[in-house]
Amino acid sequence: MPDKPLEPAYAAAVQTYLDHTPGSRALALRARRVFPGGNTRTCVHQHPHPLAGQRGHGSFLWDVDDNRYIDLYLNGLSLIHGHAYPPIVERLQQTIPRGTAWSATSDEQIAFAELLCARLPSAERVRFCSSGTEAGMLAAKLCRRATGRTVLLKADVGYHGAADDLEAGLHGQGELPGRTLLAPYGDADAFERVLADRGDGIAAVFIEPASVSTAVAPPAEFFTRLRAATTRAGALLVFDECITFRNAFGGMQETLGVTPDLTMLAKFIGGGLPLGALVGRTEVMQHFDPDRKDHLYHSGSFNGALAPVAAGLVALTELTPERIAHMNAAASRLVAALDREASRRSLPLSLSRAGSLVGLNPFGTGAPGTPSAHSRDAYRFLQIAALNHGVYLQPDEGVLGFATDITDALVDDIAERLGAALHDLVRWEGERAA
Ligand code: PMP
Repeated sequence: MPDKPLEPAYAAAVQTYLDHTPGSRALALRARRVFPGGNTRTCVHQHPHPLAGQRGHGSFLWDVDDNRYIDLYLNGLSLIHGHAYPPIVERLQQTIPRGTAWSATSDEQIAFAELLCARLPSAERVRFCSSGTEAGMLAAKLCRRATGRTVLLKADVGYHGAADDLEAGLHGQGELPGRTLLAPYGDADAFERVLADRGDGIAAVFIEPASVSTAVAPPAEFFTRLRAATTRAGALLVFDECITFRNAFGGMQETLGVTPDLTMLAKFIGGGLPLGALVGRTEVMQHFDPDRKDHLYHSGSFNGALAPVAAGLVALTELTPERIAHMNAAASRLVAALDREASRRSLPLSLSRAGSLVGLNPFGTGAPGTPSAHSRDAYRFLQIAALNHGVYLQPDEGVLGFATDITDALVDDIAERLGAALHDLVRWEGERAA
């Protein structure tokens, strides 16, 4: 929220939100006594207070005041089939009486790994963990061991979880001397230059096949050149498909025709429960083999635990090519509808799409999805206005996604509601410019 006094349209939007969410407010005040800032997850923190949820079903989330929202954030885009997807609930009801996590392997765990190897071109061997952050930590550790080098290279805007070395470029941080170098996302020349100049110290390049911060996907040529340049430099190539796995049956690596050495997975693969995985080429992954004398130690109480793996098996099996195509088409329909809404109001709205991810950047300038201070403020306003019109957009950044139960009618409903939020935004912009 801006620190100067709020313009009337902004104050009105905040007041509407406050009026409708007294239950969330009460919980937020209580939360402040136990959580720093009243929240335990920065990306869902927002002013004047975050929403407190009561229940979710399919594409809908209800807050504690019983307001219903069309949920376009879906727990960090991890609920590919929506909230409480009945086949997953059923599977968990059958599984959980046998336990949630064992200090033993399980048929489900192996079946899940087999499925990943069958779907993702880069997956020959699998290691489970509990989140995308852990998959990134594990990838960094493995690449350093496999190459004997220390430095990582990543895109300036690349998000790979909350591990220190992978946060370079984000949250106001630059490069980390001796640990992480940065290059502009999508700029093959820049990546090639760094790899040519400093490649003999670089263990790995981490890259998202599409940016989950902007829903912008560079052309395949960027990734082909990255593949060649990492190979030349003797560095490993790591794709972060924690989110983009939703966009194609074999992940975006399949559509791009580029096979990385390692792939990070998380989010929907746990069917709504915490699960991450690092998959990759046998030769590299073999460093984890505990029978090797110099093996890389990798443990974790919940690695491949029964409950998330059982839920994930359903989520992954039911993410069919037809459903992926259906979500991608729904995203195209939404982009076209929002484009019409914005033109109708003469509002500059930069829209981007990668598969079923849609980037919304009001007053965005430059490349689609490139945020400016103005567009960030505008997005924050839009996010509150959208809540007031029954749509939950992520508080932090303008990328949204769907669940597989999305319909054309729901897309049209979303476009209408977001159109109303854009109308509020235009009013606010008028006051701001005055
Ligand atoms: N990589 C990407 C591309 C992500 O979007 C995220 C989560 N937003 C992560 C890694 C980290 O995953 P997790 O939140 O499970 O730690």
